[in-house]
Amino acid sequence: MPTARKDHKVLYTPGPTEVSPEILREMARPVIGHRGAEMQEIIRDLVPRLRLLFGTRAGDIFLTACSATGLWEAALRNCVARRALVPVCGAFSERFYEVALACGLEADPLHVEWGRAVPAQAVADMLATGRYDAVALVHNETSTGVTNPLPEIAEAVRRQGDVALLVDAVSSLGGIPVEVDRNGIDVCLASVQKCLALPPGFSVCSVSARALERSARRVGKGYYFDFIRLKGFFDRNMPMATPSIGHIFALQTQMKRIEAEGFEARYARHRAMGDRARAWAAGRFGLFAEEKARSNTVTCFANTRRIEVARFVSAVAGRGYGVSNGYGRLKEQTFRIGHMGDHTVQGLEELLGAMDGVLQEIGA
Ligand SMILES: *Cc1c(COP(=O)(O)O)cnc(C)c1O
Repeated sequence: MPTARKDHKVLYTPGPTEVSPEILREMARPVIGHRGAEMQEIIRDLVPRLRLLFGTRAGDIFLTACSATGLWEAALRNCVARRALVPVCGAFSERFYEVALACGLEADPLHVEWGRAVPAQAVADMLATGRYDAVALVHNETSTGVTNPLPEIAEAVRRQGDVALLVDAVSSLGGIPVEVDRNGIDVCLASVQKCLALPPGFSVCSVSARALERSARRVGKGYYFDFIRLKGFFDRNMPMATPSIGHIFALQTQMKRIEAEGFEARYARHRAMGDRARAWAAGRFGLFAEEKARSNTVTCFANTRRIEVARFVSAVAGRGYGVSNGYGRLKEQTFRIGHMGDHTVQGLEELLGAMDGVLQEIGA
């Protein structure tokens, strides 16, 4: 368990999160060629492990040397031919929508008050217009600490027929179940610096047969993120271009550690951390997310005591822990902690103790 040290703040930011020394050592292994048998063997080993994590039996798994923002472009450019519906309930989902426009695609936002979850019925009502061929959903909205009801929204999408479901699972994959096959997710994407607790700069996605069919018919989808091209390489257990090789070593080791813990145990650990963070809020701060949708990987505290958030965050940093102010327009109204990846309830307890110390120190 990482404890606070002078030369390093333990990261409880909701991305990037703390990376274990074992994983950092994997990142520093000598570089190997990306077209050799050794790399093919690692990818051959890694793909089935990632399928289990995503919850897909036969979906294609692609590894890409970019952060999740790159895969937003990939999902949208490969799969949207007509018009995307993007439920917007916070800063990340708002950006997912902006990316659709920046890619030159037709898209409509479905605005939901920040702090609330996207109602499945609202998605169903919009889809009933027949205008959309894709829904681009952020599963866990990291800016507000909301987990959207993925199974219910997925059900609404499925009932509509040929609508692709594109899911940003950036701050859920590995911390909250995403269940790609059960939910009929066509593209499920995540970067690795959140619940997978790797250094930032790499991403993973699962891609359905329908997403590949869509991609085959799309023109102007670019080169680097063309699903058909990626499949051509990954079918041979090869990365498409020179990847971040250190990340591939680290991901293989991290997947073995995740499997050793067990997926269910891992989700339960995240739930326990979420419960602990919410319990700490009682009598101290409000919670920004509505009760039924509070995330188990990130807690967004409402600044009901009117503390100076910037000062609080820097005082917590002085005690050796990284936490985050509110995101974007919530900067001073909220603050956030990420309890994801390799963190434990015991470690979180130390952080909360330090946060109490800071509240006393600043006389809040
Ligand atoms: C962090 C985050 C992103 C952005 O991911 P990058 O890896 O920084 O590109 C997107 N969506 C959500 C929900 C996030 O938490």
